[in-house]
Amino acid sequence: MHNLAGHEGIDPHELLGRARSDARGYGAEIVTASVTAAHRADGRWLVRTETGTADPLRARALVFATGVVEELPEVPGLADLWGGDVVSCPYCHGWEVRDQPVAVVGSGPRAWQQLLLLRRFTEDLALVGNGPTGLERGQLDHLRRTGVAVHEEPVDRVVSKGGRLYGIAFANGAVLQRAAVFAATTRRQATELPATLGCEVSSAAIVADDEGRTGVSGVWAAGSCARPSLTVAGSVGHATTTAIAVNNALIMEELELAPELEPQSQSQSQSQLR
Ligand SMILES: Cc1cc2nc3c(=O)[nH]c(=O)nc-3n(C[C@H](O)[C@H](O)[C@H](O)COP(=O)(O)OP(=O)(O)OC[C@H]3O[C@@H](n4cnc5c(N)ncnc54)[C@H](O)[C@@H]3O)c2cc1C
Repeated sequence: MHNLAGHEGIDPHELLGRARSDARGYGAEIVTASVTAAHRADGRWLVRTETGTADPLRARALVFATGVVEELPEVPGLADLWGGDVVSCPYCHGWEVRDQPVAVVGSGPRAWQQLLLLRRFTEDLALVGNGPTGLERGQLDHLRRTGVAVHEEPVDRVVSKGGRLYGIAFANGAVLQRAAVFAATTRRQATELPATLGCEVSSAAIVADDEGRTGVSGVWAAGSCARPSLTVAGSVGHATTTAIAVNNALIMEELELAPELEPQSQSQSQSQLR
């Protein structure tokens, strides 16, 4: 992966492994299981996982950090190369394909945005819509004027050789050789759980403020599930801010239960924490 200061080119699994090991060092327990249900009882969240153990996990706060799923355009062979020569983010992977033949596969506003970004890196750029591109006349004129080839003819499949991308084969038998494909993906939430709990979900994002607070008391959302276009660095930043806000909220909750404190000193603490 790219675009994370100090970790250029790191294998994403290694980064995840290091992050988990760091968390364990602070005493965190990591349960590797899908969360299937959560509900509130007696001021606590009870969280159930697919392991189906009798005892649910108990928590004072619930933080979704569940990310988003990127749906690929339906083109045979595209999914096989996803995360390798097929990617979606020009900010993360554009530099690596500079001056090489690149295609955007897909249609609509996301494809348009990717083309504008990729034009900074390569002059050999094509839009492959596998049908109508969904772009306006002015946008198509702009692409033609700036040398971007536009293909609306049906695609047969994405062709790979030895696990690497070779090109895009059209139904008419022509093959467009490419070094990389940027897929115009559609994002969606990875889990229905936030919506089930009453969180508003809009444009594939859990609606949450800059500190991760959702509209449901005690439920927070951090990283790309709340801000789907964030990269790893941005997700880590949002999660850090959310963690601080959650911790502050828990401290305030404890202070509200402290009988010896006057309401005035509680509100003073609140302003100092934020
Ligand atoms: C192909 C590809 C390449 C990318 N390359 C880069 C790159 O080079 N640099 C970069 O900065 N960004 C890159 N990104 C973007 C990057 O992956 C995201 O910005 C980042 O992963 C967001 O982190 P997150 O923690 O918010 O979500 P995620 O990393 O998506 O983590 C969410 C986790 O929650 C889990 N989850 C979901 N539902 C449940 C549930 N019900 N119970 C339990 N667990 C659940 C998921 O399985 C997942 O492990 C890339 C993305 C893709 C798809």
